[in-house]
Amino acid sequence: MNSKPVALVTGANKGIGLQIAKDLARQGFAVIIGARQLEAGESVVQAVGPDARTVQLDITDEASIARAEARIRELHGRLDVLVNNAGVGHGGNPGRSNAQIMAETRLSVVDLTELQAVFATNVFGAVAVTQAMLPLLREAPAAKIINISSLTGSLTLNDDHSNPLRQYTSTYTVSKSALNAFTQALAIELEGTNIKVHAVCPGHTATDMSEYGGPVEDAAREPVRVALLGADSPTGTFSNARGALPW
Ligand code: NDP
Repeated sequence: MNSKPVALVTGANKGIGLQIAKDLARQGFAVIIGARQLEAGESVVQAVGPDARTVQLDITDEASIARAEARIRELHGRLDVLVNNAGVGHGGNPGRSNAQIMAETRLSVVDLTELQAVFATNVFGAVAVTQAMLPLLREAPAAKIINISSLTGSLTLNDDHSNPLRQYTSTYTVSKSALNAFTQALAIELEGTNIKVHAVCPGHTATDMSEYGGPVEDAAREPVRVALLGADSPTGTFSNARGALPW
């Protein structure tokens, strides 16, 4: 067994997740790359670091999650950091750009199928992975769950009529509000244990999900900063690179 702290990053084969995986590896973590297509994870494993491994992990597939948990148990016997990064911007609509789809899935035209599809990954997927990994997180001396959220999911900011982000409210932002609510509830439930729970907004970033925004290097900074906080740090925080965010 490796004595390095162990981090699992879901959806780490590309985008922000890949950058978080690289940065955690640089900080001395044995990183597990969660990738729903195993080959996609294997294609980046060397770029992440010498102690990185890939596990096939589709966060909407119970059997895949169970296999990933078993593999991490076999490899390391514990998990120090879980980064719930895997996410989708919409329910899937081939042939149109993300920007088009996001604009079309505003709440005014949302349908239940779209909402269910986005929640399946962004909310229920993150919850399912978290529940499966809790026993491994309990084996670590001081563990963290970091949910990659978005300030567009902040109910407080959406209630502020001077906030320009209000116009982007969509199925996606509702899913991030729900992920925030889950983060807060789990942090409360795990108070006084070895596991701290955080929501982090990486900031607007140019990836396959979003056609414009800042570089992934910037997006990974806050999640990695939170991952490295000491055991006496507070739980139940929501933050971005500029500091604390309102829920
Ligand atoms: P990308 O589309 O580049 O990457 C998304 C990752 O999630 C991919 O690895 C993808 O895998 C994976 N994924 C999607 N569904 C599943 C699933 N069912 N099981 C496992 N993995 C899955 O997006 P980003 O890097 O931009 O997004 C990462 C996170 O950051 C998301 O949670 C997103 O909501 C959040 N975020 C992004 C912002 C941005 O501006 N980009 C802003 C705020 C938050 P695959 O390659 O197989 O599709």
